[in-house]
Amino acid sequence: MARQPLTGRKVAVTRPLPNNCGDKEQHHMHYISTRGHPERRKFCEILLEGLAPDGGLYVPEVYPRLDDATLDRWRGLSYPVLAFEILSLYIDDIPPADLKAICAKTYRPEVFGTARIAPVRTLETGLHVAELSNGPTLAFKDMAMQLLGNLLEYELARRDEELNILGATSGDTGSAAEYAMRDKKGIRVFMMSPHGRMSAFQQAQMFSLQDENIQNIAIEGVFDDCQDIVKAVSGDADFKRRHRIGAVNSINWARLVAQVVYYFSAYFQVTTGNAEQVDFAVPSGNFGNICAGHVARMMGLPISRLVVATNENDVLDEFFRTGVYRVRGRADTYETSSPSMDISKASNLERFVFDLLGRDACRTRSLFGTQLRDRGSFDLSGDPVFAQVGARFGFHSGKSTHADRLATIRDTWRRFNSLIDPHTADGVKVAREHADPGTPMIVLETALPVKFAGTIKEALGREPDRPPRFDGIEDLPKRFEILPADAKTVKSYIAEIVQGASS
Ligand SMILES: *Cc1c(COP(=O)(O)O)cnc(C)c1O
Repeated sequence: MARQPLTGRKVAVTRPLPNNCGDKEQHHMHYISTRGHPERRKFCEILLEGLAPDGGLYVPEVYPRLDDATLDRWRGLSYPVLAFEILSLYIDDIPPADLKAICAKTYRPEVFGTARIAPVRTLETGLHVAELSNGPTLAFKDMAMQLLGNLLEYELARRDEELNILGATSGDTGSAAEYAMRDKKGIRVFMMSPHGRMSAFQQAQMFSLQDENIQNIAIEGVFDDCQDIVKAVSGDADFKRRHRIGAVNSINWARLVAQVVYYFSAYFQVTTGNAEQVDFAVPSGNFGNICAGHVARMMGLPISRLVVATNENDVLDEFFRTGVYRVRGRADTYETSSPSMDISKASNLERFVFDLLGRDACRTRSLFGTQLRDRGSFDLSGDPVFAQVGARFGFHSGKSTHADRLATIRDTWRRFNSLIDPHTADGVKVAREHADPGTPMIVLETALPVKFAGTIKEALGREPDRPPRFDGIEDLPKRFEILPADAKTVKSYIAEIVQGASS
């Protein structure tokens, strides 16, 4: 059945029906919680939200299925127009002309360095790298965060509301959020980072921003202290409401759906027709990036395998190999040389497990709500659905260590004259182990090497070249406030600034 055209043109999209809703319902996209909360929400209603009220994650009620003719038509589109087409399937509460303008404003060569936005380069026959890190902060998080900034500004203006974004960062997320929000009306960012623990480059990227609406807070503590303060502040419902506090963390659906676009773009760049399949290998931490690949595959993009690559923090590799999902404690979460993947749990995994379980919300709630809380783990190894992880959903996994990372950076440099960052190296290492001669493998490049100069030096004996626009960034004047690791102090700091601005 044809979907209601949103663009005036006929968009041939068929939708599988998981439930028996009436014809009218199919023209609208609703979001539901993975834990079965009865409320169905619209895109703009969940835009500013994190978790669903029952603690679940929002997912689309159905994944739009694409037919061959649509894929053919999309093959020739520019990145911003492709983004508009894909987002239109998930967003029906923003007028198409406005959404199109938001995509055009976001995915510009001035922001992402190239007209193709996410160009694919070839290392050798069958092995490609999709460049997702040419944005303002040189990491893939810009791909989604830049869109989110524009969507938030649009929606806040429409509601005549303001938002104060509170976050904790050890590097990439914080700077991506600040560069996405720095010139946005109605938005202020309070970003906490562990004082003196980020690399000089990362610190300079954030602290050199002079924009009024960006507040850097250096916390006298470690990253976990920063995260605990976010939790404490977000847990104070009254404070949160009074000061209009929100988050832009990795479970945000808008970020995830923005990431779906580059899977299509990379696929079109590597193939010549829709009969061809590709594999993706993705350096993973919170399962956000690769979850977008899962969504693309569910929509019918011809992806054969999705290969999850972890570092020494192998929560995800363990799950995909054994069926056991075991959250780590602080003592078992390692500081590695691919630091943006140093996670103790994979926040987005619940979205995939929900699909794996045939969208059984009761079971998802029992696994992620009850069992994880009570035992810190769950085990699907004995369940017949676990066999479908690879067979039906295409998921495979592998792990990479510091020594692998150095060897892969060295090898890729020597043989292909291509310099990759430590996270991308984890992806390339695991991709090679899963290489299938008949299927092109695309590794997602999640950061540029200049952000992790120390590890590059260790691998190659020299530092990476720095793009000219970052010359001398460490010497720029810095704007930040040092606060103790104490939620009360942070709260009064926020209150002072928010009230000061509105009085
Ligand atoms: C955030 C990040 C990752 C991990 O992405 P997830 O979506 O959390 O899986 C990998 N590499 C880099 C450089 C990152 O910034």
